[in-house]
Amino acid sequence: MLVAKSVVVLAEIITRLGDEDKYLSLVARRQVAVIGYGNQGRSQALNMRDSGLRVVVGNPHDPYEKLALEDGFKVVGVSEASGLADIVFILIPDEVQPEVFERSIKPHLRENSVVVMASGYNYFYGYVKPPDYADVLLLAPRMIGWAVRELYTRGEGFPALVAVGHDHSGVAKGVMLGLAAAMGVFKRGGCAVVSSFREETLLDLLSEQTWAGALLFMFRAYYEVATELGASPEAAILELYASGELAEIAESMKNLGLFEQLRTHSRTSQYGQLTRGPGFVGEEVKDKIRGIALNILNGSFAREWALEQRTGMTVFNRLHEINREHPMELEEKKLYKILGRIG
Ligand code: NDP
Repeated sequence: MLVAKSVVVLAEIITRLGDEDKYLSLVARRQVAVIGYGNQGRSQALNMRDSGLRVVVGNPHDPYEKLALEDGFKVVGVSEASGLADIVFILIPDEVQPEVFERSIKPHLRENSVVVMASGYNYFYGYVKPPDYADVLLLAPRMIGWAVRELYTRGEGFPALVAVGHDHSGVAKGVMLGLAAAMGVFKRGGCAVVSSFREETLLDLLSEQTWAGALLFMFRAYYEVATELGASPEAAILELYASGELAEIAESMKNLGLFEQLRTHSRTSQYGQLTRGPGFVGEEVKDKIRGIALNILNGSFAREWALEQRTGMTVFNRLHEINREHPMELEEKKLYKILGRIG
């Protein structure tokens, strides 16, 4: 069998900082502002404060502000927080970042201010353009928000993609590692993968637009065929995802490896997966993936999405509506009511 040859670029992976205190001292005396107190904002702010950093929260008056106050933070408006800070974490949804940045953050940036983002998207596509006299960093946890906090409190780390987008100060990489340490990345089991805004954006969007989307519609196709053949909707939905077995398989992939986890399934299952699986993914599918990657890298997906947002999200809303009307959705609601998952 031929094994495809490809140029493999190995990443720099940092699991431990030799002298963590040295890196922490680069950031310890500087004022940090966390803009947004949602999924990532809350966890990152709490972790950095517990690591000894001075953190102020920038958020409008709303329930998130209340939560930040309850957690003991000083909370001010986004402009005021940006004005107070040496290091500004932009942890609000990607869609609103360009406008909030131009209006309330950029005017307050000074020589050697540091702008930190948790996703590569807006900087890679030029929707957020910090001035040349500021450093730009990426600290993108490969972890959902609440778990960033949960792991920190258990003394455990998590993987994060980190990158220097612009180094005006000359010490941007050290500051990046100091902030990653303060966030808890280098605790037990965690690591920083030195990356780039381009790589983070490509990998993130490519996952969403290939296997993640395909999985949803593959499940639907399975459901349609299984019910055509007389299977009950309830049994099909439980088999696919509602039982939680899928989450266990994902956990095994993380712990044992993609193919090694197969050994935890029955031999019949292993044989079925190994013989039938490859038939779904030939050169044609790889070409599709390449096409999607091209549209990500050349910015055409980003332009399409920006236009969709400017024109009232009609396609987005319509697609949600169409999908809600599918019989599988209706059966799922009934099942989830019986199981007490929804009211
Ligand atoms: P959230 O949706 O949880 O952010 C909510 C926060 O943003 C709230 O404090 C909200 O306050 C504030 N906010 C929303 N709109 C505005 C606005 N127009 N002006 C000021 N504040 C606003 O964001 P996430 O934590 O999910 O995402 C933050 C960043 O982290 C993104 O770049 C995302 O890609 C990245 N990321 C997220 C991950 C996750 O686990 N969700 C994982 C890795 C990276 P209010 O309600 O008052 O507007």
